[in-house]
Amino acid sequence: MKIAAFDVREDERADFANAAERTGVEVELHAEALTAANAELARGAAGVSVLGHSQLGAELLEILKGMGVAVAATRTIGVNHIDLDAAKRLGVAVLNADYAPNGVAEYTVMFMLLVLRNYKPALWRGQVYDFSLEGLQGREMRNLTVGVMGTGRIGRTVIRILTGFGCKILAYDPYPNPEAAKVAEYVDIDTLYAKSDLITLHMPLIEHGHNANKHIINRDSIARMKDGVVLINCARGELMDLEALIDNIEAKKIGGLGLDTVETEEELIHRDRRTDILTNRGIAYLRQFPNVVMTQHMAFYTDAAVRSMVDHSVEGIKAVAETGEYRTRLV
Ligand code: NAD
Repeated sequence: MKIAAFDVREDERADFANAAERTGVEVELHAEALTAANAELARGAAGVSVLGHSQLGAELLEILKGMGVAVAATRTIGVNHIDLDAAKRLGVAVLNADYAPNGVAEYTVMFMLLVLRNYKPALWRGQVYDFSLEGLQGREMRNLTVGVMGTGRIGRTVIRILTGFGCKILAYDPYPNPEAAKVAEYVDIDTLYAKSDLITLHMPLIEHGHNANKHIINRDSIARMKDGVVLINCARGELMDLEALIDNIEAKKIGGLGLDTVETEEELIHRDRRTDILTNRGIAYLRQFPNVVMTQHMAFYTDAAVRSMVDHSVEGIKAVAETGEYRTRLV
């Protein structure tokens, strides 16, 4: 059995080699994203393994299905780059990743502390031997109310870590979780906005349908938050309206941002763009503020998570091709 893997980074190659040996599957590795133009590379494969750079829309899924490639496994938890309705209609099975939530949760809490303790301007100053304190006074977690939006695997792990800090924890999720409810108070979204000093997002991006949540953080929702609110986004960039973030940082309504993911990041993340003329004014402008910490969508990026992402995509494609079943199968 053969699998074609796309978006493959150098650091994933050893894990793919190990997974191939363990499962007896032949894995062809491609650094480029899977597109309609290069889909021929997948011919003869039982399934394709991709990351978020590969946009699996209806047209590409149809080409894959036409070549007999009936399984698409994404090595990510988020699946907003895959047209699940089209996959269902075409009979292409889709699997996602289910690596442990700890890496993203720890990164989220790190962001909270970096922003609350003004780490970015402190780092800038230290580099030029400016060891002054003025303007760097921080806040202590125990005195804050933290609002967690989305209490799935990552949100719940964030809540568990936060209990050690002694802060008050509010939560909002259409499907409250009994374990989280023991330490966090579930409230409606307006109460979470009104009462939280710090808000962190942990829900999937849903672009269409009655659950759509693109730009759930927008001018209107920010206006309902506390002055000086700190926002953390280690989920998906499009959950927050980039222009609304910029305006509200300028107006000092938002007191700080920790963004591992930001709207319009797609052309930038995980690539070396140092010598390119970049035209993404929104990100360039937002990232220069001292109270905005931004990273390149790397909250997931730990040794354990990468190994799991690779292993499950190989094992999952093999299992679905042979039995039709795997625990991360979505459609
Ligand atoms: P999960 O499916 O376990 O939990 C998601 C939760 O969000 C569910 O409980 C769901 O009911 C809730 N939810 C859905 N819509 C909501 C809404 N509008 N408001 C509030 N809650 C809502 O997913 P997870 O494993 O916890 O991951 C969450 C998201 O984090 C993923 O979908 C992915 O986009 C993102 N993520 C980012 C990185 C990164 O590197 N930055 C890594 C992994 C995952």
